[in-house]
Amino acid sequence: CGIVGYIGTQPASGILIEGLRKLEYRGYDSAGVATISEGQLQRTRAKGKLQNLQVKLEGLEDPARVGIGHTRWATHGKPEEHNAHPHTDSKERIAVVQNGIIENYRELRAELKAKGHQFRSDTDTEVIPHLVAEYLAHPPADNQLGRQSPLLEAMRQAVNRLQGAFALAMVSADFPDELIVVRQQAPLAIGFGQGEFFCASDTPAIVPYTRAVLPMDNGEIARLTPLGAEVYAFTGHRLKKHPLTLNWNP
Ligand code: GLU
Repeated sequence: CGIVGYIGTQPASGILIEGLRKLEYRGYDSAGVATISEGQLQRTRAKGKLQNLQVKLEGLEDPARVGIGHTRWATHGKPEEHNAHPHTDSKERIAVVQNGIIENYRELRAELKAKGHQFRSDTDTEVIPHLVAEYLAHPPADNQLGRQSPLLEAMRQAVNRLQGAFALAMVSADFPDELIVVRQQAPLAIGFGQGEFFCASDTPAIVPYTRAVLPMDNGEIARLTPLGAEVYAFTGHRLKKHPLTLNWNP
């Protein structure tokens, strides 16, 4: 239902929670965040109000400068903590949040299970981190962007397998300087700061930090690092994109 993401120089956790607060009005049944620091992925999720998530995060020293967050409105799998986003791969190195529905998740889940991936939720979303892990471990011959970023390329391969309407954000403990975002028939915008980038499913989560916003178009995948944003078509073709300046008083 709501997606936020941050990469840059500030502690990520507070920015993610503030962003999720701005998206609360859309409704949700659970919430979660995943951040990367010192080569580790830290994931915290809670059923119910954002307050429940905040209580769990209190006292957790989290110096991470990159992370993603989500408020979930369940479509596939009950509104329980184990179904809350972010979802991870079997090794818990990759975390993904999703808005929308992955229509062909049953086939993908069966295929990935047969390859040894261990599923821990009942959601459609969980196939995505497993699919990315599979493509990272076994890069296909059609490798467009693997030299720029193996993580970006693995997600590009993964989104080409997905059917449905969705927006995604992903981080990985093995690629701590990257935040990957995708838009396909569900809204996602990128916020451009100074040495920092934001993403969100709706601009109110971004405008407290920057008015330079790029609403993504369908069929786009982007790689955000503290140094810049690169946008590509699902084919791997690089696109020239510039943020707009929003004149909006929240
Ligand atoms: N279909 C996904 C799920 O049930 C995402 C729902 C949403 O947009 O919050 O987990």
